[in-house]
Amino acid sequence: MSKEYDVVIIGGGPAGLTAGLYSARDRLSCLLIEKGVIGGKITEAERVDNYPGFPEGISGLELTKLMHEQAAKYGLEAIYTEVTALEIKKEQKVVVTTQGNFAARAVIIAGGSEREKLSVPGEKKLTGKGVSYCATCDAPFFSGKPVAVVGGGNAAIYEALHLAKFASRVTIIHRRDRLRATTIVQERAFAEPKIEFLWNAVVQAIEGKNFVERIRLGQVITGEQSALEVAGIFMAIGLKPNTDYLKDVLPLDELGHIIINERMETKIPGVFAAGDIRSGSIRQTISAAGDGATAAFYAKRFIER
Ligand code: NAP
Repeated sequence: MSKEYDVVIIGGGPAGLTAGLYSARDRLSCLLIEKGVIGGKITEAERVDNYPGFPEGISGLELTKLMHEQAAKYGLEAIYTEVTALEIKKEQKVVVTTQGNFAARAVIIAGGSEREKLSVPGEKKLTGKGVSYCATCDAPFFSGKPVAVVGGGNAAIYEALHLAKFASRVTIIHRRDRLRATTIVQERAFAEPKIEFLWNAVVQAIEGKNFVERIRLGQVITGEQSALEVAGIFMAIGLKPNTDYLKDVLPLDELGHIIINERMETKIPGVFAAGDIRSGSIRQTISAAGDGATAAFYAKRFIER
């Protein structure tokens, strides 16, 4: 066992960082474990307009950097490694990682989610070769080239708006005739001359020898088939919670989110879940931060009991 903590937090997005701030500020020994970048998915957002306190907006990276700084000031420790299991041994919880095990009196699971795969021919083979799940990371590779974005939610529109700064043309391919994204976000996309829309269309295959060259499309209503020449295709069709390692430990809903009560408590006493990973989340930065505060509040109560 590497070390024992009052609270171990899995995931370093807004939920985990807020839980860390509250726990560390309450003078609990507290470790945050993050497998990728501190800040989580919101670090991909170039501008967050709806987090209170920032009237001009703030980049997701900057916002979560500030959150981390604030929590670290009170003593939150962080390590970068992947959690592979959660073991429950009576009173003790053990978080198993690729860099050792960490025991905790309370665990807050805030591991967020990752982008869904489209699961069409060519997607796997061409991932990293034109198929991407992150425009913020990869957009500069497509300067002056045509690209496509799949999806109709906020993520798809933000991806498209960012890509429009680099690409020659951005085609949003959506399976319906209406976007899911919020109205204000939609309006920005409709006003961007480089963005065009293919409605009621689905991607059937992605083709290219070494890199993406074209995509095969099917019209949902007419059944008509066509091809679109693109150098890149960005997937933004929703998120999948990172709960694979919890399947036999905690009850999950039909989409794999952790089932909790209003105190963010799971079925196991002392184990909490917060943010996108929990069932019923509205998946916003502010709600994730709120969940983190709630989870930390009740984790402290649990430890005191
Ligand atoms: P989302 O809102 O669930 O949208 C997913 C989109 O992908 C939908 O338009 C859906 O179509 C489409 N889709 C799903 N499966 C598909 C498939 N197999 N083939 C083709 N299309 C498919 O997911 P998201 O855009 O990733 O956003 C996730 C959450 O994060 C949301 O709550 C969103 O508001 C939030 N978010 C917020 C911000 C922000 O405010 N700054 C930025 C990004 C994301 P249908 O519409 O037909 O279902």
